[in-house]
Amino acid sequence: MGSVTVRYFCYGCLFTSATWTVLLFIYFNFSEVTQPLKNVPIKGSGPHGPFPKKFYPRFTRGPSRVLESQFKVNRIDDMIDSHVEDPEKGNMKFSSELGMIFNERDQELRDLGYQKHAFNMLISNRLGYHRDVPDTRNAACKDKSYPVDLPVASVVICFYNEALSALLRTVHSVLDRTPAQLLHEIILVDDDSDFDDLKGELEEYVQKYLPGKIKVIRNTKREGLIRGRMIGAAHATGEVLVFLDSHCEVNVMWLQPLLAAIQQDQRTVVCPVIDIISADTLAYSSSPVVRGGFNWGLHFKWDLVPLSELGGPEGATAPIKSPTMAGGLFAMNRHYFNELGQYDSGMDIWGGENLEISFRIWMCGGKLFIIPCSRVGHIFRKRRPYGSPEGQDTMTHNSLRLAHVWLDEYKEQYFSLRPDLRTKSYGNISERVELRRKLGCKSFKWYLDNIYPEMQISGPNAKPQQPIFINRGPKRPKVLQRGRLYHLQTDKCLVAQGRPSQKGGLVVLKACDYSDPGQIWIYNEEHELVLNNLLCLDMSETRSSDPPRLMKCHGSGGSQQWTFGVRSLSGRRQAELRVEPGGRTPSLPRSGRSQVGSIHE
Ligand code: UDP
Ligand code: MN
Repeated sequence: MGSVTVRYFCYGCLFTSATWTVLLFIYFNFSEVTQPLKNVPIKGSGPHGPFPKKFYPRFTRGPSRVLESQFKVNRIDDMIDSHVEDPEKGNMKFSSELGMIFNERDQELRDLGYQKHAFNMLISNRLGYHRDVPDTRNAACKDKSYPVDLPVASVVICFYNEALSALLRTVHSVLDRTPAQLLHEIILVDDDSDFDDLKGELEEYVQKYLPGKIKVIRNTKREGLIRGRMIGAAHATGEVLVFLDSHCEVNVMWLQPLLAAIQQDQRTVVCPVIDIISADTLAYSSSPVVRGGFNWGLHFKWDLVPLSELGGPEGATAPIKSPTMAGGLFAMNRHYFNELGQYDSGMDIWGGENLEISFRIWMCGGKLFIIPCSRVGHIFRKRRPYGSPEGQDTMTHNSLRLAHVWLDEYKEQYFSLRPDLRTKSYGNISERVELRRKLGCKSFKWYLDNIYPEMQISGPNAKPQQPIFINRGPKRPKVLQRGRLYHLQTDKCLVAQGRPSQKGGLVVLKACDYSDPGQIWIYNEEHELVLNNLLCLDMSETRSSDPPRLMKCHGSGGSQQWTFGVRSLSGRRQAELRVEPGGRTPSLPRSGRSQVGSIHE
């Protein structure tokens, strides 16, 4: 019964998409700005009109993205220091042309790319391996100089089923924008990828064009990024380890500020500011300077930098103390990495390791900073395009391990949110507990009191945690409505199938539970439906037959834009967002609920 209703809900979404498709198609055909796009030759234009039928849904997205990037200045620009030249401008025309689809092969490549990598591989391939990126540093950084005798770096890049073009652009950006004398080597760790081009073609390319500084290490079985990085680090011989994801582009002068901070204090771990490379356009844009935090679900989040941390004598160039790191991009003295216990090798594939190493750094005598003068772009995808070998939830497994090793009595906070995990096994942690003892690390209470006092213990007086949406900085769109999403025929609520914080999770109809804040949706001015203040309802970018999922809010509209207020064909409302002032009102009179509209069959 439940699944039938969900199916109808999905049909509703499909119908909405189809309506939009038609509207957009009409719009593009009569809009002057898009005239040039009408001339895009598409092979096989058949009886259905200018494009073959199968191109309609996706092609309408193409131009809409173009329009979006041409006319809507990236919201993040609001956050950018006024000294930064408009980073998107140079990129815009460039990206929109790069994304054009000229034939079926282009279309296939684009679709395949979204499927395999969750970003636009067509554009990635067309960009090639070298490009300039806008210098997103603030003006004060540009005047800064660094010692000449900096320690040398080994750059470790793990990859699993990465798009070859993205991987090689990462490598070349490092080679192109790092002084040769500071770059000891680049170590590529292939985590037993499946794609052929990452084997022979990559091997050949490295031998032919990248001899000398590049080492390729092949894992014989999938290890995951945590053990993968440890393997890379074990092969490294430079004084400093720099970890990067396999879909990054480093900016000008990215390495010197990182190395300089480590040179001053070997126990300092540093992260660059992570700029945004759009998954759809590959446009490079600046990120606001934010710092790392976490919530009691043990999810990483971005926080605004407290005023007390800003405005020291070094001003906008000073390192910013960060309670946690995002994970993928950081630099650390190699001996210190080993001394501090590398990573927990009992952690699998992905997740949790960033909080674990952050807690360990602070609690065991180190420091963690974000360096505003070092900038590295990273492709932010809307979903992680891979799973774990047996479909395990490795984030949970890894978080559970770190909770048992590092959180002391505060692990209760995690378990109160995840009571299902109290009795769940997490493998042997005795080595990590011993490491903590051997290093003489401080308590988690000390960490909270001294490093992350902003963290609040959840309770009746706790303020709700405000996640920062990386695509739009800490500016949050205005909330229009907040409440439960009711399906009127069944009087059930649309909720997450699993946990509301599970990225990529499906939504289902379940009995409404008024004590569960995880059932609360927000409908905001960007037309996003945000569940539990965390994730957005998202129609897949690739296959329009996919049901909607809960995804990170990307702030770019499109697949996360929902409209209410349209009646179904039968004229009946199927669903409504009922607003519950104050969040959790158990039995609100019907008249007290305002109707936003309907989702139709
Ligand atoms: N990675 C890996 N093995 C895995 C999973 C990931 O080597 O089993 C690599 C991946 O290719 C990437 C890095 O680890 O270079 C970080 O992963 P990802 O980018 O998926 O993490 P995210 O940026 O989404 O947090
Ligand atoms: Mn990544």
